[in-house]
Amino acid sequence: MELTRRGFLKTAGAGVAAGMAFGLTSKSPALAAETDRQWKLEGTDEYTNICCYCAGGCGSVCSVRDGELINVEGDPDHPINLGGLCPKGASMFQLRNVVDPETHEVIKNPARVTKPMVRRPGASDWEEISWDQAVSEIARHIKDTRDETFCETSEDAKKFFEDHGYKYGDAETDEDGNPLTVNIAPGLCSLGGSQENSEEEYLILKMVRALGTPAIDNQARV
Ligand code: SF4
Repeated sequence: MELTRRGFLKTAGAGVAAGMAFGLTSKSPALAAETDRQWKLEGTDEYTNICCYCAGGCGSVCSVRDGELINVEGDPDHPINLGGLCPKGASMFQLRNVVDPETHEVIKNPARVTKPMVRRPGASDWEEISWDQAVSEIARHIKDTRDETFCETSEDAKKFFEDHGYKYGDAETDEDGNPLTVNIAPGLCSLGGSQENSEEEYLILKMVRALGTPAIDNQARV
């Protein structure tokens, strides 16, 4: 018998339909898949947490087994994100663990930085330092810079900016022509990060204003 293309499709379609009809009407038992594999979240304890990446404050659920992080996902009970996470938040697990590209095993992220590091002027390598050393070096830099650049009056500020190549115009004066008290440290600036929440930013703002920093900005992107 010669089978045309149209005839072949008709015959095949009828065969599939008959098979489906049999499958839907027969009483064959449904078989659950049996597996020895442990489900990923089996035996884990769940800890709710807040995403570390931006001030959005999305909630997450961290699943932990035997002290080891197994999974991080959005918290469906959290009022802000209702279980969703943006791509950055969804990759939070990789802060701690990554998949080894060769063995495909989950391993500790070898690129994770767990200690303060500093690259000294002129050096090409980063040096690990303690938290105490980091805090004390940062404090020293801030204090020295403030002392070196502090301007008490508008005349001082005019001199500072003009010495650094900026046009300033006339120094502001009071009604009697005396320079104004400004008390600024233009050698310092503050750049906030979107990781900080409103309360942290409030305290940072208080601190940098007390230091006399006139240049304050914030990056608020995810
Ligand atoms: S980074 Fe994304 S998941 Fe994390 S808090 Fe911000 S918006 Fe939410």
